Amino acid sequence: MIPLKLGVEDLAKYPFLEEAGEYFRQRGFSLNDISQPDFDIVIERAKSRVLDAIYHRETSSRLSDPEVELLSFPVALMMVKSTGLDHLVSRFSHTESVRVEKLLEDEREELVVQIFRHILKINLVAVTAEAEGGESGLHAFDYKIPLMDYLKRATHFHQLEWKLVNRVVSQGYVYLRTHDMIRLIRQEIDGMIRARLNALPVPRLPENLEATVKDLAARSPPPPKIVSVIAPDKYPPCVTTAQAMLEKGENLPHYARFLLTTYLVAAGRTVDDIIQMYGRSPDFNERITRYQVEHIAGLRGGRVKYRPPSCRTLVTHSFCFKVPECGDILNPVQFGIKRFSKNPTTTTTAEKEKGKEKGKARTKKQ
Ligand code: SF4
Repeated sequence: MIPLKLGVEDLAKYPFLEEAGEYFRQRGFSLNDISQPDFDIVIERAKSRVLDAIYHRETSSRLSDPEVELLSFPVALMMVKSTGLDHLVSRFSHTESVRVEKLLEDEREELVVQIFRHILKINLVAVTAEAEGGESGLHAFDYKIPLMDYLKRATHFHQLEWKLVNRVVSQGYVYLRTHDMIRLIRQEIDGMIRARLNALPVPRLPENLEATVKDLAARSPPPPKIVSVIAPDKYPPCVTTAQAMLEKGENLPHYARFLLTTYLVAAGRTVDDIIQMYGRSPDFNERITRYQVEHIAGLRGGRVKYRPPSCRTLVTHSFCFKVPECGDILNPVQFGIKRFSKNPTTTTTAEKEKGKEKGKARTKKQ
């Protein structure tokens, strides 16, 4: 497939593409140019991108002057990196990923396919009526992706709609509409922008940017302190890892959120405590978070209080960080009971099962 020739407007929309770097090189732009008065407009736009991330967690593209829009992206990255605030890095990458998502929804197919193939390494194929031949219904979808690529990402979603049995699969491909396809890779776009930011060396700022960066750092509120009911050293490592990710402002995958919320509910934390903790999350929305936490805590809907996922499930999702103290527990809630119980006779379900087996073996010997 011949790569599309991209115009400056495309690059302004997707400034993380390799072609954007090439554009800067061809035009001879360098960091030194930022101190020129001509660049004030770029600095202003870069600052507004960061402020949008701080205050609104969303921003939109301004394509009336695509070159300013394009240049403002690396300048905004530089500003965020220079603040040294991990929390702001996460918020900015999330905000930019939401912007990209919205654009991809209306993007021309060839460019979507190119972005998926070159940036995300997913062999996405645009669905056409001719290519699908006479097979009825398939041409109603927008894209298809290889089954393995789908499965790798869909395991992060717990809703029934993402289960493979509820998808249309044909000849090794899963068929999707644009909206679902973009939802599927939401975290990857965020991760890609975050990786760019993390890999960026802390720049030596031109003088005219120092005050702006200080201002942005001052406006970016520090994440609220986590109020803990149980001492953190009593939590199992999978839970403390999820907490540490939240502390850094990282976007937790769905199953890690489910683990954290169910565990903290089981540990007796209040709904408000848990919601406050999620305030660090770059995509925090209090109304949605309250609904989800109350649902998990059994205060809504069917009033079922959810139990944390089993250790086996967490292993499957590569979210088990087992330490010797985990022993052979089956569920993270058993970690505290087994290790910290004041009653030395307290046993976990796993231990009880083991005990029964031993008992049976003894009876047989006798
Ligand atoms: S063994 Fe269980 S409790 Fe321990 S880290 Fe793994 S998932 Fe968490």
